[in-house]
Amino acid sequence: MLYAIISDVHSNLEALNAVLNDIKKFGIKEIFFLGDSVGYGPDPDECTSILNSLCSVLIAGNHDMAIIGLTDISQFNSFARIAIEWTSKQMKAENISLLKRYKMLQEILEKNIFLVHATPKKPEEWSYIDIMWDVDKQFHYFDDKICFVGHSHKPFIIEKKSSGELLLHKEEVRLSEKSRYLINVGSVGQPRDRDPRASYCIFDNGLIYFRRIEYNIKKTQKKMMGYGLPVYLIERLSYGV
Ligand code: ZN
Repeated sequence: MLYAIISDVHSNLEALNAVLNDIKKFGIKEIFFLGDSVGYGPDPDECTSILNSLCSVLIAGNHDMAIIGLTDISQFNSFARIAIEWTSKQMKAENISLLKRYKMLQEILEKNIFLVHATPKKPEEWSYIDIMWDVDKQFHYFDDKICFVGHSHKPFIIEKKSSGELLLHKEEVRLSEKSRYLINVGSVGQPRDRDPRASYCIFDNGLIYFRRIEYNIKKTQKKMMGYGLPVYLIERLSYGV
């Protein structure tokens, strides 16, 4: 089994292309996308169309759902809201209709994995998983060996042993027969763990690990400036916050 799991592209075409080039180097044919193709960045049409053509699973993120009117954006902070309003005006109808096909969650039985954007528990609430406090209960809301999530833009691997003990892995994990896993793959287009490089995950025969990929941040920022997107959203890409 060899596949890549990517999430939270957020209209960042430079980051997406850098990640896709990296995926190609490994000869990976199957890519699962965990949601938020749009919001924040300058290239919503291109990113949505590329993801649609290359990913075998497309999961809905809160920003995708906001574009098609299925999530209330009054919950969004002001920067996210400005970006969503800009994105809605910018996007072609044909690409907006692609977002309508995204699924809230998907279980792939033969791979023993569960895919969702925010949380296995009530995914439509778009909650954030706190790795100190509410990881354990999330394991009750999927039956598979591994659940992959995105949403917080901060990568982590939590292993739950058969004894109930929880372990945090930072960079990689070799799957053990009796453990189950909850894995946040990080964000391609707007990392927030103080590492500005794009983040994604590779599953390679029982080994799961993160890849961090440099991309042309300045090019993305220049486009965002040209479109008058909020300075805070432009600046944060330099720092990965
Ligand atoms: Zn996101």
